[in-house]
Amino acid sequence: AAMREERIKKTKTVCTYCGVGCSFDVWTKDREVLKVVPHAESPANGISTCVKGKFGWDYVNSKDRLTKPLIRKGEIFEEVEWDEAISYVAKRFNEIKVEKGADHLGFISSSKATNEESYLMQKLARQIIGTNNIDNCSRYCQTPATMGLFRTVGHGGDSGSISDIAKAELVITIGSNTAESHPVLASRIKRSHKLFNQKLFVFDLRKHEMAQRADRFYRPKPGSDLVWLSAVTKYILDQGWEDRKFLDEWVNSYEEYKQSLEPFTLEYASDLTGIPVDELKNVAEEIAKSETVSICWAMGITQHMRGSDTSTAISNLLLVTGNYMKPGAGAYPLRGHNNVQGCSDFGSMPNFFPGYEKTTDDEVRSRYEKAWGVELPAEFGKDNHQMIEAIHDGNLSSMFVIGEDTGIVDANINYVTDAFEKLDFFVVQDLFLTKTAEYADVVLPAAPSLEKDGTFTNTERRIQRLYKSLDPLPGAKPDWEILSLLAKEMGYDWGYEHPAEIMAESASLSPMFAGVTYDRLEGYNSLQWPVAQDGTDTPLLFTEGFPFEDKKARLYPLDFQLEYDTTDEYDLHVNNGRLLEHFHEGNMTYKSEGIARKTPNSFVEVSPELAKERGIEEGAQVKLISDAGSATGRVTITDRVSGKELFMPLNDNGKSAINFLTDNRVDKDSNTPAYKEIAVKMKILKKE
Ligand code: SF4
Repeated sequence: AAMREERIKKTKTVCTYCGVGCSFDVWTKDREVLKVVPHAESPANGISTCVKGKFGWDYVNSKDRLTKPLIRKGEIFEEVEWDEAISYVAKRFNEIKVEKGADHLGFISSSKATNEESYLMQKLARQIIGTNNIDNCSRYCQTPATMGLFRTVGHGGDSGSISDIAKAELVITIGSNTAESHPVLASRIKRSHKLFNQKLFVFDLRKHEMAQRADRFYRPKPGSDLVWLSAVTKYILDQGWEDRKFLDEWVNSYEEYKQSLEPFTLEYASDLTGIPVDELKNVAEEIAKSETVSICWAMGITQHMRGSDTSTAISNLLLVTGNYMKPGAGAYPLRGHNNVQGCSDFGSMPNFFPGYEKTTDDEVRSRYEKAWGVELPAEFGKDNHQMIEAIHDGNLSSMFVIGEDTGIVDANINYVTDAFEKLDFFVVQDLFLTKTAEYADVVLPAAPSLEKDGTFTNTERRIQRLYKSLDPLPGAKPDWEILSLLAKEMGYDWGYEHPAEIMAESASLSPMFAGVTYDRLEGYNSLQWPVAQDGTDTPLLFTEGFPFEDKKARLYPLDFQLEYDTTDEYDLHVNNGRLLEHFHEGNMTYKSEGIARKTPNSFVEVSPELAKERGIEEGAQVKLISDAGSATGRVTITDRVSGKELFMPLNDNGKSAINFLTDNRVDKDSNTPAYKEIAVKMKILKKE
């Protein structure tokens, strides 16, 4: 019995399934995950978790885990030892750098990996290769939100904590299926709504759970949110309902911005969005009279051709109404992946070193040059989207992708996988032989979060430690160890013994993380960035102004023209998003037996009116065709969607992936694919 007890272990970890960042104790016996127990001291979640955090862990023992490095020999992969794989990758990277130049290599970090691993991936790209071609999957989701906030308030993070949203008088969610995508955060809002009279307005195409609970629910036409946001802001100004004191004290560019609002009349907005003028007036009035307004948004805003501008419009509205610099108010872009915030924070971006310091800033660059002992490139590198285009144009020959199934999650699958086939040398590091890995020349077996130490940063900028619960599956290694081996083989012995040393190095170089240490993060302790040298952190992001020289935020003028619509031929709009039970492309959750059993298949939601018009019944098989490709699915008839709106989950394990339908259109300011602006026609394959 004593021996049995010894094998049972309790370790603190942080969930890998969404940006809420729930932390809990995971109980294990040898490699078996026995249970997950939330902890009252968990800062983001207290005693709550959702189905994924509680039950979604058996993928770590999936028989599909990779346990040997693979090298492509012709059409097949051969298993090799680590030494051989590492020296082969190092040799090929060096050759390509010498023959074609450093900018012929591109690097993609994983938003599921730790902050320390993101730091090392950008260090590898910049220090050893000498390129800024480094990015991460926030390019697919939240970069437009970061852009909108940078422009207006100077920091690309949530204004406060999740507990602050719960205090808001009015919560507005736009383009966010919060109950399924950020379940524990949604439950905080549901509680405040039910018990404390918090008002909830939901703007979304789909009548999901939060929409059903909301005091008001509106369905603006696809891609038109910028218009109602700007019209409501204009109306508030026209009525004199703005927060004049806040504007005078803390905000710049008022006159120029006010002029830019001229075209955004309520009538124009009503015309484009489909929301009646009186309703828009009423929304404006409710916002103006609420003491604190928090606006939460997600991919339903960002993944559009005007995603950055629409995020900017949200921030403009918050500024005009004085909804910054107080608890319960502010901007809450809800980060999707567990560490998508941290992956960008720690420098896996083509234009920023860690802590959002520009590569073009001489002072910043020379700080890193001194620490790393090399000269560094100043010019911004290529983002994910530009890397794929560069391959097609013959300007990028090699890629290294960590923990990202780019060949499924990037828009326009056929275009992306065609690019993979053109690469001279392609390395993928992952847990499984993903669709992307199938195109690789070398596949390196990585270890998941339960098998390593490190830190994650959740949506509220909260840095939390995770501790190793299990030894890595024999043959697999944590990403930070693999990157260190590769660096050493390429002549740079970084010498890290533990991720704590990586964080210490990053903290010494980046003012934003100056006071971050593993000691201060012990157990359930956490820090919200920026963190001063003395360890003071920042739960409320803006307290004494904004991070500009004059401490004033900027109102950012916007214009609008409708760039997306359905056509006579492609007459239906297909929306897409997460399901509660699954995560991202589904590589992990479909390998979790209980979850896969509960929600085994993808589907296409069709409105009752459209089903009637086309004579389709529940269970029919349909084929959706866009200008980029096609996907098939089984019909579910539901009033969650209305009229000519369709919905497909994005997590479908690659079976009928939504990204066969998406094309190359992107947000004009961030290159984020316009995943949510797809027009399709529907063919019925089988009526029922
Ligand atoms: Fe994990 Fe998010 Fe669920 Fe929390 S809400 S348990 S972080 S998936």
